[in-house]
Amino acid sequence: MLNVTIIPILSDNYCYLLENAGKIGIVDPGEAAPVIDYLEMHSLTPDVILNTHHHADHIAGNRDIMDRYDCTLVGPASETARIPGMTHKLQEGDHYEFGDETFRVMETPGHTKGHICLYGEKSQILFCGDTLFSLGCGRLFEGDAATMWNSLQKLSALPDDTLIYCGHEYTLANGEFCLSEDPDNADLQNRMEEVKSLRNEGKPTLPVSLEMEKKTNIFLRAESAEDFKKLRELKDSF
Ligand code: ZN
Ligand code: FE
Repeated sequence: MLNVTIIPILSDNYCYLLENAGKIGIVDPGEAAPVIDYLEMHSLTPDVILNTHHHADHIAGNRDIMDRYDCTLVGPASETARIPGMTHKLQEGDHYEFGDETFRVMETPGHTKGHICLYGEKSQILFCGDTLFSLGCGRLFEGDAATMWNSLQKLSALPDDTLIYCGHEYTLANGEFCLSEDPDNADLQNRMEEVKSLRNEGKPTLPVSLEMEKKTNIFLRAESAEDFKKLRELKDSF
């Protein structure tokens, strides 16, 4: 199985260290130092860095890690110009082998033009960058609401027990918005209690199951692209 370690970086980003059958991967190192510290402390050598999209808070650590360890860099093919040093370019439907695990590549534009999510088919684990957050979704920087809606629908079709690892710890603030729009949702109320106690203990609120998100995340619960658009606009000024 795929072993995932959460490495908190910057102010609210998560970088993920993956281990499977002797392979070591790093998802979205927006900062190198905490990642290198972890690798050194555990005598690990990364084989590959995997980037979901071009934003600096997801790729800024690539260069220092690659200089130090000589690993490969995998990312969205359409972002070759904005992610320097990519050695393997992925697009919709590609399969990327990592140890015994196979990642299915899903293109999910909306937050940025080229954004990929990686779904580990055996472990049923999803790395979704800034497309889907727990109780929220990414801002529409380079896409319209309909595009993002389609991307979220694609993720929502994955198996319910898929474990979601997203790019940021935004769950508490996202949940306040969900509650303001969906105050009587008991699953949401319970999840928010859990989220508050995890954050009070300084723990991540991730991973979370897709099943839980479908019950609580108002952006996944929207019934149409138009409803989604209205919610995204409300959230932008919340
Ligand atoms: Zn981003
Ligand atoms: Fe980000």
